[in-house]
Amino acid sequence: MDAQEKHKIKSQKMKEKVDARVAQAQIEKGLLLVITGNGKGKSTSGFGTVVRCVGHGYKAAVVQFIKGKWESGERNLLEQYGVPFAVMGTGFTWNTQDRAGDIEAATRVWQQAKAFLADPQYHLVLLDELTYMLGYDYLDKEEVLSALKNRPENQSVIVTGRGAIRELRDMADTVSEIKEEKHAFKAGIKARKGVDW
Ligand code: ATP
Ligand code: MG
Repeated sequence: MDAQEKHKIKSQKMKEKVDARVAQAQIEKGLLLVITGNGKGKSTSGFGTVVRCVGHGYKAAVVQFIKGKWESGERNLLEQYGVPFAVMGTGFTWNTQDRAGDIEAATRVWQQAKAFLADPQYHLVLLDELTYMLGYDYLDKEEVLSALKNRPENQSVIVTGRGAIRELRDMADTVSEIKEEKHAFKAGIKARKGVDW
């Protein structure tokens, strides 16, 4: 048997396996995705999925739990396509040094998140940097988990941020841990507009 024939048989076997797995996946429901870890690419993954969703004509909503002081390329674009943004807007928590103020801001934006999570017209809700609100106990864990659990059946949710808590990982359908191998910032290169935000 020559190499070409061997390759053909191998590919055929692989195709049969993949087809069988595809046939097995029969469940239709909204997903909970958690994108966590220390590497770069968590929020960009979330926003990439929002673009997919909107590109198919579905409605999506974005809630950002940390950033907001500066301009965001994603917001500039997506608001033009009717994607509502709810932004905490207090900058990075470790800059504010104001725990009570942070909790108040987190609670305020959480009310908007809760409204999206109760509204079946949203095919996708991105909860960007939500993990920190749970890690720092800025929001009530049970309340957040229950809002996620009781969301409309066909609604998908993406949670991003480092250090996702165990309960969130357990509840999720898909969890990706983005590993940092290297990051430009560590070599002294400044964050770039149009790439980092
Ligand atoms: P991005 O928004 O680029 O997908 P991210 O959501 O994975 O990043 P965050 O922790 O939210 O990561 O980072 C926000 C900002 O910090 C971004 O400008 C990003 O480029 C930068 N950043 C991400 N990961 C690292 C890292 N490991 N070291 C230094 N800076 C980072
Ligand atoms: Mg991020």
